[in-house]
Amino acid sequence: MFIEPSIGKSKSKDKKGHIEVICGSMFSGKTEELIRRLNRALIARQKVEIFKPTVDKRYHEFDVVSHNENAIRSTPVNFAEDIILLAGDCDVVGIDEVQFFDNRIIHVAKVLANSGKRVIMAGLDMDFEGNPFEPMPQLLAIAEYVTKVHAICMKCGDLASYSFRLTATKEKVLLGEKESYEARCRKCFYEDLK
Ligand SMILES: [Zn+2]
Repeated sequence: MFIEPSIGKSKSKDKKGHIEVICGSMFSGKTEELIRRLNRALIARQKVEIFKPTVDKRYHEFDVVSHNENAIRSTPVNFAEDIILLAGDCDVVGIDEVQFFDNRIIHVAKVLANSGKRVIMAGLDMDFEGNPFEPMPQLLAIAEYVTKVHAICMKCGDLASYSFRLTATKEKVLLGEKESYEARCRKCFYEDLK
């Protein structure tokens, strides 16, 4: 389990920020892990702001909602840069479904962390063809702390790192969860990939 580095509650100007990335396949508990970290910061009375891209409208507009319905209020934003304006003077910035932002999110994450904030981002690291999901590779590279979480393969029960798409569409972004995707291990993913 991820243990927070010494982040303190100091409001001093030399407060150090950093970047954490939680990555993995669908059904791996990325959002649950993000919520766990954010809730602990909230309990410590740190100022927390949570964002997600507006493309993700599967659930309630204003909540980061994980599959266990352990929700936390979030602000949907159209562009990565909006986060810099909206983050204000908060201590912790949470960003869910970060793979749906374009590459400008890399600059945004740097600006936020360099201004002393703890930035925690959760996102899919691979697309449905098993390729890196931009901009996750760059975010993983600039993060101080990286956590890869795993699902359980729905075919064989091993640990799963891949999101297997059950429908034929080749669109990169296909929202919808249980009806469209299965978590798969490497073997079961590539066996059925067409
Ligand atoms: Zn498997």
